[in-house]
Amino acid sequence: MLPTRRTRRSGHITLVGGGPGPADLLTLRAAKALAAADVVYFDRLGPTEDLAALAPRATFVDVGKTPGHHKVAQEEITARMIDGARNGLHVVRLKGGDPFVFGRGGEEMAGAVAARIPVTVVPGISSAISVPGAAGIPVTHRNVSHLFTVVSGHAPLAAHEYTHLAGLGGTIVVLMGIGTLPALIAGLRLAGLANVTPIAVVENGFSHAQRTTTATLDSIVDASSTCRNPAVIVIGDVVNLAGGNDLAIPNFLADAGLQSA
Ligand code: SAH
Repeated sequence: MLPTRRTRRSGHITLVGGGPGPADLLTLRAAKALAAADVVYFDRLGPTEDLAALAPRATFVDVGKTPGHHKVAQEEITARMIDGARNGLHVVRLKGGDPFVFGRGGEEMAGAVAARIPVTVVPGISSAISVPGAAGIPVTHRNVSHLFTVVSGHAPLAAHEYTHLAGLGGTIVVLMGIGTLPALIAGLRLAGLANVTPIAVVENGFSHAQRTTTATLDSIVDASSTCRNPAVIVIGDVVNLAGGNDLAIPNFLADAGLQSA
């Protein structure tokens, strides 16, 4: 894998946010980093379809995880990336959404810094904002919600966290939240959030399988029984702005100029 001509060039690591799925939601800088990559570590979220075209010089390593099945341990990913960079490679770590939103990008950055490997970060479009948007739900809206909080549903929250969340009065966005949804709902109800609060579960944003399920705090657990990750859960009055319809992505987020092709 070592480049033969320039064995003494110094390698580096670029942590790249890949956005919520479609390759054309990568930033130009992300595309540039991929085009220059010798090796790309990727997982199942973020753009994976056109990777070979985006990174024509690179070899690919799938370090994808499905909830509960850690394919390659985080420490090992970091160690392998550092090894690659030490061998002079341009290592790209491609992540879904933004690297610093529940993406463990901070750990990889810290690992590279500790190993004295140059590391740069390319921000990405986070699913926390874009997936609600793809379902027609703005996370903020004048006179409706002037704040949004992004929460990981990876593990249930503590009682005081439910109280704070319920008391904020803005939009609550939950990632990785399908497994803990019943606990979240119970906690928020106990903390005093109104039963009529609207909730949407948006699965598989930006794909043909995108689906939005809407209900209220007291009915969402039943209504979402068939919902699966990846999904973004949105809680708050902004959900009503989508009109309760599962309006498709092209209506909202696609570039009209690109659709006619
Ligand atoms: N760094 C990522 C989030 C990683 S956590 C970001 O900024 O978007 C993974 C979680 O993100 C998933 O469990 C799901 O809650 C959410 N997610 C990412 N892409 C998604 C998509 N296309 N549709 C729905 N949810 C998505």
